Amino acid sequence: MEPVLYTEARDMLMARAVPVGIEIVPLSESYGRVLAEDLVAAEDIPAFDRSPYDGYAFRAADVACAADAHPVTLRITEEIPAGATPTVPVTTGTAAKILTGAPLPNGADTIINYEVTSFTAETVTFYAPVQEGKNIIRAGDDVRKGQLLAAAGSVIDAGTAGSLAGQGRAYVSVFRRPKVAILSTGSELVEADQVPGPGMIRNSNAYSISAALYAAGLEPVYLGIAQDTVEGIAALMERGLAECDAVISTGGVSVGDYDLTPAALDCIGAETFVRGVRLKPGMACAFAQRGAKLLYALSGNPASSIVSFYAVTLPALRKLTGRADVLSAELTVELADRFPKSSPVPRMLRGTLDLSDGIVRMRLPRDQGNVTLSTAIGCNVMAIIPAGSGPQEAGTKLKGFVI
Ligand code: AMP
Ligand code: MG
Repeated sequence: MEPVLYTEARDMLMARAVPVGIEIVPLSESYGRVLAEDLVAAEDIPAFDRSPYDGYAFRAADVACAADAHPVTLRITEEIPAGATPTVPVTTGTAAKILTGAPLPNGADTIINYEVTSFTAETVTFYAPVQEGKNIIRAGDDVRKGQLLAAAGSVIDAGTAGSLAGQGRAYVSVFRRPKVAILSTGSELVEADQVPGPGMIRNSNAYSISAALYAAGLEPVYLGIAQDTVEGIAALMERGLAECDAVISTGGVSVGDYDLTPAALDCIGAETFVRGVRLKPGMACAFAQRGAKLLYALSGNPASSIVSFYAVTLPALRKLTGRADVLSAELTVELADRFPKSSPVPRMLRGTLDLSDGIVRMRLPRDQGNVTLSTAIGCNVMAIIPAGSGPQEAGTKLKGFVI
């Protein structure tokens, strides 16, 4: 199978991924979850005409002739704090003292903030007319019954959470958080809490991929290390398929003697539809499907696996979460540093955003190699150098995306 463009691989994965189900959660636990229902307003907000200020509610016609030379004084009939219900209508010659958030009393058509009047406990005096209807927050000004507030597939943010509460929704339907099995292949690997023997290394991929999954709203399930045997890898893949919604493996996916992940995919009866992408780092990879579930076999090189994760697999993984906006937003970045190498195949640069003087710049770590995990620390932007490019001077503009 020929390698494909990394964007083709990304789109093929995206086309095959489907959300994994729906559950009801309490509103208090819904932050960051993906809405599985359209949030349509069942009620107007506010539900009644109300005051934006501490002040007085009155009839504008009563003060139409007010001026410094001949002020108009109205008699105060009652005080309406927030949460109270007016008891008497406002009639000609009277006003109600009204506090922020309190309902407008019948008969009143205008509100004034107290600072521009003079007042006693019994009266309020006006020195200028006030336009009729002024300073009233009308029922439905914020939200109208029937209005779409947030669509299924959007992530519940602070505004959505508040709007759910405002609509009396103590529970909400969200997409289930997908579980993603992580397995690490390599007979050279030991766990993070072990001391590597000669020639051995600690398994870092499981943890970087796990963190990236959490950040994207998925639940990683670490299955452990598989030795470089077809049976060992296949056994963990089977477990991953049984227990989780998708499987991510790292390592063993290029074309060496000990690269047995593709054989393991065949062994478990998965259909491999991508074998290698034209992207550096991250060329070695395989993507397969069994039933509804996708298997993402990434390279063992730490930088390669993280680049593949963000550039190729993340949109499909987001689709699993039910999100409607799965592609990372594109932006143009200006390189802050020179990149000295040529790029015969498309190359994904990793770096950090620098917005300090209002220009979207990308700073490059000193090394872009495929084994340099340390340079992924703090990385929050990636940018693509097109195939066939020479060295990239500082100031070059590239297409990129924020992670
Ligand atoms: P592979 O893709 O299996 O050929 O591995 C490529 C390189 O990445 C080798 O140097 C491996 O030792 C290293 N490697 C593989 N898996 C991991 C891992 N889980 N954590 C850190 N390094 C790894
Ligand atoms: Mg290996």
